[in-house]
Amino acid sequence: MVQEQEAHAAQTERTFIAIKPDGVQRGLIADIISRFERKGFKLVAIKIMVPSKEFAQKHYHDLKDRPFFNGLCQFLSSGPVVAMVWEGEGVIKYGRKLIGSTDPQRSEPGTIRGDLAVVVGRNIIHGSDGPGTAKDEINLWFKPVELVNYKSNDEKWIYGVN
Ligand code: GDP
Ligand code: MG
Repeated sequence: MVQEQEAHAAQTERTFIAIKPDGVQRGLIADIISRFERKGFKLVAIKIMVPSKEFAQKHYHDLKDRPFFNGLCQFLSSGPVVAMVWEGEGVIKYGRKLIGSTDPQRSEPGTIRGDLAVVVGRNIIHGSDGPGTAKDEINLWFKPVELVNYKSNDEKWIYGVN
């Protein structure tokens, strides 16, 4: 059991997920949160905010040479965004699966973008694409004190360990 607990702890990770202004305005907050929650992932931070354009540029700095960068940052800063941190085994990679492909036209039905979005410029949600970006994005959007450590009663049923 101790070994299983250690394995569980080692595989537990955190990812940054944001519902973009289109998802917020379209009333999709609860649906999106529900998909992560029902899967068995744990919400450890959440807030709603309107990021400045400079903040959006920091968040998307990797894309600064892309032709859509300016419009993307303009859009992200155009209204409220729900910023979240989700925790669980494999949550970084599986979070991307729940979200679907960048272009909703290529996203499978059953994914968030597949079910709820149509075009790439309004694909309603962001998710970190790897451990490095997850760490950077969590640090950009949240102060350490905003990340809550807690045990959920369901964990023993989700993972088979306490
Ligand atoms: P993601 O990780 O799946 O969100 O995709 P990327 O990191 O490649 O791009 C970030 C965001 O930029 C995407 O979610 C889209 O909103 C937007 N984006 C990506 N590619 C395009 C594009 O070709 N055109 C437009 N208008 N927006 C794009
Ligand atoms: Mg990305």
